[in-house]
Amino acid sequence: MKAYKHLVKYSLAQGYNISVWDGEEWQVSHSNKYQNIIDAIESVEEANIVIRVPEYGNRVAWALIIPFGLEDDETVADYTDNEFMMKWSLAYDKAQKGLMLLLEERKKQGREFPRIVLQFLVTGQNEHQIPSLKTWSKEIGVDELQLKTTQIYDFENGTELIPSDLGYSRYIPDGKGTWKLKKQMENKCWRMWQGAVVTWDGKVVPCCFDKDAKHVMGDLRVDLMGKIWHSMAYQQFRTQLLEDRSQIEICRNCSE
Ligand code: SF4
Repeated sequence: MKAYKHLVKYSLAQGYNISVWDGEEWQVSHSNKYQNIIDAIESVEEANIVIRVPEYGNRVAWALIIPFGLEDDETVADYTDNEFMMKWSLAYDKAQKGLMLLLEERKKQGREFPRIVLQFLVTGQNEHQIPSLKTWSKEIGVDELQLKTTQIYDFENGTELIPSDLGYSRYIPDGKGTWKLKKQMENKCWRMWQGAVVTWDGKVVPCCFDKDAKHVMGDLRVDLMGKIWHSMAYQQFRTQLLEDRSQIEICRNCSE
């Protein structure tokens, strides 16, 4: 919440309006009033923020929410043409313009940061766009292009989401007509000792694979992180993972 508050204050000060979305499609609120936005964020279980300057319709992009001064930030683009973006109801042209504005602004200010990393989640539906994405990312001058594998929930029977180039896939055929994780599952996970993930409302979960916060280790609104980190719930989760990771649903489909 602290991060959201900072972001909202910063963005409003820059003259942006802010939309709060519940999940991916539903716009809860659109305003330039600080308290309205904070109330809207608090009212939904998930929140994505989109920043708009209505009078310049082209300046709409999540890329623009990145405050200068941070050492490292990311802009995400999963598709490189309108066909796919329209499918997901995202305004690709606008996002692209936003990215360009961010790059231009950084150049104008003579800064090297924020470092701009373009991430692309490769699926069977967009892998054909990789060559053009490589060319484009060079042309516009992002610092790095990351081609990332995608986690797929129901992969066992195969799906069009699995790329044909298995170099970009977390899954491979198991030789029996179904699919399995490429990486062999071992009863260990470095992430359990490296960090935790905090959801927008203060719940501490073991990692970003727990997208639905099914394994809540504690609540930062109630306890300090140090206490949660050493809590019984956390210790039990780590022990279970070391003894038999396959018993934890999120760990079964994890490439770590
Ligand atoms: S899903 Fe399980 S194995 Fe994967 S990173 Fe999270 S805790 Fe570790």
